[in-house]
Amino acid sequence: MAARAGGRREIRCPADGSLVAEIDEAGPEDTDLAIAAAHRAFHEGPWPRTPARQRGDLLLRVADLLVRDKAQLAREESLDTGKRLVESEYDIEDVVGVFRHYGHVAAEHAGRVVDTGNPGVVSRIVREPVGVCGLITPWNYPLLQASWKVAPCLAAGNTFVLKPSELTPHTAIHLVRLLLEAGLPAGVANLVVGSGPHAGAPLSEDPRVDLVSFTGGLATGKAVMAAASGTVKRVALELGGKNPNVVFADADRAAALDLALAAVFLHSGQVCSAGARLVIEESIHDEFVDAVVERAGRIRLGGPFDDKAQTGPLTSAQHRDKVERYVAAGIAEGAVLRCGGVRPDDPALADGFYYPPTVLDRCSSAMSVTQDESFGPVLTVETFTDEDEAVAIANDSIYGLAGAVWTQDAGKAQRVAARLRMGTVWINDYHPYVPQAEWGGYKQSGIGRELGRAGLDEYQETKHIWHNIDPAAQGWFA
Ligand code: NAP
Repeated sequence: MAARAGGRREIRCPADGSLVAEIDEAGPEDTDLAIAAAHRAFHEGPWPRTPARQRGDLLLRVADLLVRDKAQLAREESLDTGKRLVESEYDIEDVVGVFRHYGHVAAEHAGRVVDTGNPGVVSRIVREPVGVCGLITPWNYPLLQASWKVAPCLAAGNTFVLKPSELTPHTAIHLVRLLLEAGLPAGVANLVVGSGPHAGAPLSEDPRVDLVSFTGGLATGKAVMAAASGTVKRVALELGGKNPNVVFADADRAAALDLALAAVFLHSGQVCSAGARLVIEESIHDEFVDAVVERAGRIRLGGPFDDKAQTGPLTSAQHRDKVERYVAAGIAEGAVLRCGGVRPDDPALADGFYYPPTVLDRCSSAMSVTQDESFGPVLTVETFTDEDEAVAIANDSIYGLAGAVWTQDAGKAQRVAARLRMGTVWINDYHPYVPQAEWGGYKQSGIGRELGRAGLDEYQETKHIWHNIDPAAQGWFA
């Protein structure tokens, strides 16, 4: 329905500033109506009581509809985010995989019988939906991040209000249409398209919302957590990262080099798990970093439909300004700028928010550039001389989302992986994930897990039902 708040918002493509669409802007009164609908659907509607197998079947139908609409969805995602069409196509395939996964596991792990030792008692642990869920998502992987929440949320029998980023709403709108087309009862899926402080904040505060699951920046995550404490609702947070990519001298150099570039420059660094800190053994520093710089300087920037482009723009002018300030701070702190660091002068890119792949060499953990998330195409380089120092540098962060270790020594790889305080550690690889495996952060990278079994647990309550099948007076107060 049209937003009550009455505002309008222009959605512009970050690649060239062109107008994608003008949409209704929701405000607090719209979120209030959406919460009311989700609350009614949870407490009076059929969805929470629909057999889990049937809920799973619906998710599988949604997966089929996503496949049917893949080309259109990828186009919508690219226009909103500015990312290359081929990357959006990969993202949509991943979204299909997430819906298929939760479609298949929806009816698994329904509960268990507890052996109380008393034959006159049946004791059962059952899993139930949490209730009304507020789902808040960012702009970098709009549909993918939404799918990590929506699919397990529905598999578990909850109802929800989804608040996508104000910058990138189109694939969320499309997804909700597909959910209805697949047969989801009215009121189960609700969408509010508006700004975080107006349309999103009520989801953390409202007593009718039982769970808020948020993906975004650390500062906003803290605000969501603080607001949610007023009603002691469940909180799941997927926040930022400042992820180390640790390369030992005995690594497969060609693979490590190639993946060091992909780790940080994919989607122009706008990836929560970006390998933005290269932590490299001093003995190979010169050769390795020279090669990184040479290849980074050749990465071609361009818009979603430019076949020759290798990465796209930043999401907004404000975000590019922030990345520029971050690089300037690093240089002022003593980092050595090896490439990038100035806006491209290609007139073809003048209308977009482009920023080139940038390498800051000779950094240390004391600098803000190795501690703060830039969320842009900026690689910092630090060196180590032994395994202990590598681990100490890699763990020297308030974040703990992801990281990688490169070595051909399997024992060293396993030792280092065990000591890294992160939710995901890749050995001789960077970036892959599967919906069957949990994703989330240690330390200030978040609370809880998405994907995998734990990603479904987030959306379930655990109830113990004790049934005395042979009741008799006990005589405590006889
Ligand atoms: P953000 O500014 O924190 O925004 C995230 C979402 O929160 C948006 O929908 C935003 O709405 C909304 N929001 C803003 N203020 C709010 C409030 N007071 N109450 C409720 N919601 C509010 O983050 P972003 O810039 O979109 O995303 C980048 C960040 O996300 C990075 O730090 C990145 O590391 C993190 N991230 C983490 C993961 C992960 O898996 N750990 C994945 C992806 C991204 P509007 O945008 O509409 O204002």
